[in-house]
Amino acid sequence: MRLDFYISHVTELARKAAKIAASKGRITVNGNIVKKANYNVQETDVISLDGELLAWPSEGYYLLNKPAGYVCANQDAEHPVVLDLLPSHLGQKLNIVGRLDKDTTGLLLLTTDGQWLHRITSPKNACSKRYRLSLADPIFDDTLDLLEKGVLLNGESKPTLPAIAERISETEIYLTIHEGKYHQVKRMLAAVGNKVESLHRDRIGTLALDLVDEGGYRQLTETEVAYF
Ligand code: URA
Repeated sequence: MRLDFYISHVTELARKAAKIAASKGRITVNGNIVKKANYNVQETDVISLDGELLAWPSEGYYLLNKPAGYVCANQDAEHPVVLDLLPSHLGQKLNIVGRLDKDTTGLLLLTTDGQWLHRITSPKNACSKRYRLSLADPIFDDTLDLLEKGVLLNGESKPTLPAIAERISETEIYLTIHEGKYHQVKRMLAAVGNKVESLHRDRIGTLALDLVDEGGYRQLTETEVAYF
């Protein structure tokens, strides 16, 4: 890994500031001052900034309670992005695990660990995601059966995979799906002639959104990371 990339990964210095710190002789590798930002550091190297020993980065795993109005992207010209809800030195390093629409709220995962991200999002693993839906019109039991068996979405050639649909009230349900097609939940409800008014994700696999306030985040425990 390049020295400036390493420094920007483990400290609050951005890449440019890391380059400047190196050029000023503030960084040592194995006790020797290294001024070249493109110096190739190895995991066995002992690296210090201003005499302070730096630790190699460990992977990060976070849960965020997404509010409405935030976009799941690294940047957006018009809207705030979910990474704005995290301190910038953290947000810059994290990848968003799957996407929620701008108006969807609830459980969003973020990580530095590409393999973990892949395990959750890969269609092969059919990881479950539970959504709480408010609907424009009352929903009947036979429509819940249709959603469970699979419906054909507009523009698709195959029906959706079996899902779990649970009634909460006349116009509210939980829907658990095992795939992640574009706008899937909204399109599933459109396919049965209804309309999603609000959508909230409260569970991914066995991981539930707990008491994190809207817009808040926390680190996952080791046990939670190991769920996936
Ligand atoms: N399905 C949708 O339609 N939107 C989301 O944000 C998530 C699932």
